[in-house]
Amino acid sequence: MNNMITIRNLNFNYGKNEVLKNISFEVAEGDYIGIVGPNGSGKTTLIKILLGLIKNSKGQIKFNHDILEKNSIGYVPQKGVMNDRLFPATVKEIVATGLLSEKTGFKFYSKDDYSRVDITLNKLNIENLKDKKIGNLSGGQQQRVLLARAMVANPSILILDEPTSALDPEIREEFYSILKELNEEDVTIMLVSHDIASIEKYVSKILYLDKKIIFYGSYNDFRHSKAMAKYFGIYTGE
Ligand code: ADP
Repeated sequence: MNNMITIRNLNFNYGKNEVLKNISFEVAEGDYIGIVGPNGSGKTTLIKILLGLIKNSKGQIKFNHDILEKNSIGYVPQKGVMNDRLFPATVKEIVATGLLSEKTGFKFYSKDDYSRVDITLNKLNIENLKDKKIGNLSGGQQQRVLLARAMVANPSILILDEPTSALDPEIREEFYSILKELNEEDVTIMLVSHDIASIEKYVSKILYLDKKIIFYGSYNDFRHSKAMAKYFGIYTGE
């Protein structure tokens, strides 16, 4: 498998607070990585660094540009449910903003842009919501709209930060199933979650973070690892 991102000796502090210590790992093409760990363990900081939102980290992050093109990381942020029914944007408009980073100069959408929006809405089964205002949608529908916005530019990596914390368990399962389908169609996924139990049947790898990497490997090895037994007080290995 080709590595898409190689991270070596990454360190980051907020002032005196050491948040990431000596982080090294690779993201391979087709991976579905669950990034887990306690509150404050550096998960969000790590993905902000990968997205280029935090720039003053130390260490190396190498993107493999042979397989990763410009705009090829899609991001679904953490969110609560938006209840403002008067918020003026429609689903179609919000999803189209996922194409903005491809544009230079005046930012007008073309016919082709809107047909890409339609294709993405179709794929995520929300084409019927196209002209609805985002504030009128349920939490699960809003989450799919944010996923559509991240997917419309056809990214090869999708990074999601606890995307389902505001959703009912049933809707959450549906959301994870969609991610699994995207992963089967070759989208590499990095999914931050504080709840291993809810993602374990979907992910192929676990990165367990507690400022440093406690574990990185397959979910199966994770379940049997001694490092994790120390954390959870159980050891299911032989
Ligand atoms: P997680 O996503 O695992 O909950 P975070 O990456 O959000 O962890 O936070 C890691 C640590 O960095 C925590 O101690 C948090 O308080 C601190 N932190 C996060 N964001 C900031 C910030 N903007 N300024 C200062 N400290 C921060």
